[in-house]
Amino acid sequence: MDKQFYNQEEGLSRSEIEALQLERLHSTVEHCMGSAFYRKRFADSNVSVSDFKTLDDLRKIPFTTKQDLRDTYPFGMASVPLDRCVRLHSSSGTTGNPTVILHTARDLDQWANAVARCLWMVGCRPEDVFQNTSGYGMFTGGLGFQYGAERLGMLTVPAAAGNTLRQLKFFTDFGTTVVHAIPSYAARIFEVMQEKGIDPRRDTSLRTLVIGAEPHSEDTRRRIEDMLGVKAYNSFGMSEMCGPGVAFECKEQNGLHIWEDYYIVEIIDPDTLEPVPDGQVGELVLTTINREAMPLLRYRTRDLTRILPGKCPCGREHLRLDRMKGRSDDMIILKGVNIFPIQIETILMQFEELASDYLIILETLEDNDYMTVKVEIKDIPVDDYAKLKALEKEITRQLKDEILITPRVRLVPKDSLPKSEGKAVRVKDLRKQY
Ligand code: AMP
Ligand code: ZN
Repeated sequence: MDKQFYNQEEGLSRSEIEALQLERLHSTVEHCMGSAFYRKRFADSNVSVSDFKTLDDLRKIPFTTKQDLRDTYPFGMASVPLDRCVRLHSSSGTTGNPTVILHTARDLDQWANAVARCLWMVGCRPEDVFQNTSGYGMFTGGLGFQYGAERLGMLTVPAAAGNTLRQLKFFTDFGTTVVHAIPSYAARIFEVMQEKGIDPRRDTSLRTLVIGAEPHSEDTRRRIEDMLGVKAYNSFGMSEMCGPGVAFECKEQNGLHIWEDYYIVEIIDPDTLEPVPDGQVGELVLTTINREAMPLLRYRTRDLTRILPGKCPCGREHLRLDRMKGRSDDMIILKGVNIFPIQIETILMQFEELASDYLIILETLEDNDYMTVKVEIKDIPVDDYAKLKALEKEITRQLKDEILITPRVRLVPKDSLPKSEGKAVRVKDLRKQY
C-alpha cells in the first residue's frame, strides 16, 4: 500500500515534534556562532549558548528582521564559510539592498525533501506529470518546486512563467496532471483556455493545482477549482525560509501544516512584540532549525496569520496556519481605517458576474484621499447601463460593510486591467504624501 507520510518526521506526535525541536534548536544556536552577526547579537543581549534549556528560552533571543538581512548584505549572516555554499537566492527589495539567502548542498537537499513531502501529502505520485509555471532563477518558486517534484519522482515540465499558449500545449501534449501556478496566473490560464475552446475537464488530465506565493481568498480558490476542474492546494513559503515547502494544505484544505521539524513557529503582536493568545491573528515569526548555510533565529516574516486550534483529521500533528491575511506592510491605511486587500477580494469574488482581476487605486483629490476599486466583469454586456449601475451599487454597499469606508467601484471590461507575469499587483497608491 501507498505510504501515508513521505517521511518519518511528518508523522511525529506533538511530544516527539517538541523533543526534536529542542534538540535542533540547541544545535542551531551553537551553529549560529559561526556567524559574525549572531555572535554579536548574542554578546549584545547577554545570551549564551548554554542558556537554552527549554523551547521557551528561544524568547531570550532578539528578533531577526529583513533590515538585518539588508544590513549584512550580501554574506554577513552566513554561519559557514562561503566555500561550503552552493547556491544563493536573492530578492530585490524596492528600497535599499536586496536580501540574499545562502544554501549548502545539505540545505538544498532538505528543501527538496520538504517540497516533496508537501506534494506527496496532496496525492502527487511518481506517475504524475508536474508542470511548473513559476519564473525560474532568483524566484524560489521555480527551482524550489523543480527539485521537490523531481525528488518525489514525477516527470517534471519546467515550463517557467508566461507564454500561456505554450503552457496549454504542454498540458495536452505531455498529459500534465499537476500544475504549480500563482492564483492570478491560474485564472489567466483558464481565460486563455476559454478563448481557444479548450475544456480543461475534457481536453486535459489536470487534477491537482498548487497555488501560492500571494494572498488569495477561499472564494478565489473555489473559483479556480471550478474553472479548471481541479483540487487547488494553498502553498506558503518565502525566500528567507528557503522558498516553497514551509507550510502547505493537506487534503482537508483546512489550514496549512507548517513543518515543525524545520521551523519553530511563534505568532506575535507586531506592536508589542509579545506572543498573542492561542488562535489570535498576529505576525508569524519563524526560527529555522534545519539549515546550515544561514539559519535565521526568530525571523519576523511580516505575514499575518493565526494558528488554527484543534487536531487536523488527516492525522498530522504539525501545527496548522490559517490562510494568510496579508503582510503587515501590505495593510492600507485610508482615512485612519486599516484595510487588507484580501478583505476586498473576498467580497468581490462572491459576485459571479465578476472576473478574477481587480485593482485598488488610492488617490488624493482636493486634499481628500479616496479608494477606487476597478474590477473586471465577465458576462454582462458592457452597454447594459442599468444592470452595470445596479451591480456597482451592490458591490459598493457590501465593500462598505466590510471595510467601513465607501470606495468608488468601477466595472471594467474583461482583460482591460494590466496583467503581470509574476505576483499580481493589487494596490496602486497614488496618494499625495504630506
Ligand atoms: P518571496 O520571498 O518573494 O517568495 O515572497 C514571500 C512572501 O509571499 C511571503 O512572505 C508572503 O507574504 C507571500 N506568500 C507566499 N505564499 C503565500 C500564500 N500561500 N498566501 C499568501 N501569501 C503568500
Ligand atoms: Zn491535515
